[in-house]
Amino acid sequence: MKTYPLSLLIACVIIFLSLYPFPELPEVDVPLADKWTHMVMYGGFCLIIWYEYLKAHKSINKGKITLYGWFCPIVMSGLLELAQAYLTSCRSGEWMDLLANAIGATLAYVLGWTVLSKVISPKTVATLLLFMVSISALPQEGYPANYARGPRFKALIYYSNNVESAHKEFAEQALKFFHKLSYGEGFLYDKTTDLSQYTDEQLAEYDVQIWLNNSVHGEKERKAFERYMENGGGWIGFHAAAYNDKNTRWPWFVNFLGGGVFYCNNWPPQPALVVTDTDQHTVTKSLPREFVIPSSEWYQWNPSPRKNPDVEVLLSISPKNYPLGIKDVVKFGDFPIVWTNKKYRMVYLNGGHGDECFSDATTNLLYVNVFRWVVSTSPKGNPFEK
Ligand SMILES: [Zn+2]
Repeated sequence: MKTYPLSLLIACVIIFLSLYPFPELPEVDVPLADKWTHMVMYGGFCLIIWYEYLKAHKSINKGKITLYGWFCPIVMSGLLELAQAYLTSCRSGEWMDLLANAIGATLAYVLGWTVLSKVISPKTVATLLLFMVSISALPQEGYPANYARGPRFKALIYYSNNVESAHKEFAEQALKFFHKLSYGEGFLYDKTTDLSQYTDEQLAEYDVQIWLNNSVHGEKERKAFERYMENGGGWIGFHAAAYNDKNTRWPWFVNFLGGGVFYCNNWPPQPALVVTDTDQHTVTKSLPREFVIPSSEWYQWNPSPRKNPDVEVLLSISPKNYPLGIKDVVKFGDFPIVWTNKKYRMVYLNGGHGDECFSDATTNLLYVNVFRWVVSTSPKGNPFEK
């Protein structure tokens, strides 16, 4: 205890940091930023062990320093990853983290033998530590403002890279949008391109699923989604997430959407004048009666979801836009683009084609309103009141 006060203190801090539920760190433009943090954290930890060992011993016992300064920290890191995987609901274990930690410990080991054991002076150690601390502070710029309160809820973002490029572009922008939203709204999110790997229990942890550019096609995912929604799950779908035609063969999903099957679209993508269908709904209350929504491809549905008594239409394309399109022209017809099926906690938004969808403040407010409304109706209670 007396020989290793700093090392023990840092071990405690690492254990605390590993098991405490932190909101996800914002992504920064440093590739693999979190892995660097792991490496630096364990590297620094091992260097301190070296420092304290060298201060207390005149000669180096190779076996002992390898055990305490390299092997034990790696085992500790492995145990912590296991604990994250099996004991906490808020953090997940990652074997790449263990690898980063092991690399950090190994670098410290090499540095310990080559530098520290020869030129050990408080100044050298202080400089090294300062360097370590400043690197590990780097990825934390822009840390969520409300991190102290801890995460309020979890969202699962589903998208595909195996779709047309304009739908991929939308997903890229949407991922950035929801990432930024997570700072202030204080939620954790996971993103996936494969929903089949999630069990019912895992899905139930998410207050909302956000489908950016694709539906699910396998029987297993479809059934799991049906159970998730029937048991009070939340869903926000954009654009192609709701696309269905005669080949889709998922009647439950068509019902869930309000009965509409894809009928036609405008082409090329273009902005549209939209009207709010009600000023009584939380989603539309704060929106102008009419506004222009940025460029997208717009789908018309047959029958119109408005004909379904369970559907509440929130936003429609104004008939003033007709004829809408140049190559493919929509000339008439009811044209809802945002609606909810009141039997579920869901909102469908038809925008989501190309990279301009998040370029307008009013439209972004619409997205935020939809997100907050779906999440706030969680059967677990309104997390925004936490
Ligand atoms: Zn499209």
